[in-house]
Amino acid sequence: MTSFTEENYLKAIFHLCENKNGLAVSTNELAEITQTRAASVSDMLRRLSEKELILYKKYQGVTLTEEGKSIALKIIRKHRLWEVFLVEKLGFGWDEIHEIAEELEHIDSKVLTERLDNFLGNPKFDPHGDPIPDEKGNMPSQVSFKLSEAVINTELVMLGVSEDSAPFLQHLDKLSLHLGAKLRVLDVSGYDQSLHIEINKAGTIHISKEVACSILVSKK
Ligand SMILES: [Zn+2]
Repeated sequence: MTSFTEENYLKAIFHLCENKNGLAVSTNELAEITQTRAASVSDMLRRLSEKELILYKKYQGVTLTEEGKSIALKIIRKHRLWEVFLVEKLGFGWDEIHEIAEELEHIDSKVLTERLDNFLGNPKFDPHGDPIPDEKGNMPSQVSFKLSEAVINTELVMLGVSEDSAPFLQHLDKLSLHLGAKLRVLDVSGYDQSLHIEINKAGTIHISKEVACSILVSKK
């Protein structure tokens, strides 16, 4: 059995390793993301290491064992499935669901998770466009890149966001930027790299480089 906190650490280590292409995560990086003191992080790492869920060498950092990775992927699977449920079945906005899913993801019932998955029609992506691992922990692949890296005048589809804070998502709502939107970059300012883009062949808007960096697209 793993506790809430242990599960959150495994998830945090998984996401950090993913962002670093599998490289070991440092205690400081973990302290920052979990907002705890380095000393508490070290205690937790010792405990996870005793349970053989992580490989932890002082001064070298942390990686997940196969068992630890499998638990992290199960938590991520539940988190993302619940997010789909909250948006599609309960009518929540995509900016309102992350905190609730942070709690629901810890419900430890395999039957519930599989029924939820079937009830939702086995979705491959959550409402932020993040891939949902299957019950074996395989992630559906998705070839996406940042809108800020798109070639001008190419037809694009918005697939996801790399930031899921409520203020950011609400900002996208105001701009009518939703998953599935058809986008085309018309022009990039040489001054501040802000972008002039067309949405769904209907209207055009200006967005900052920062916003464009957090929007994931693929070629249509
Ligand atoms: Zn979330």
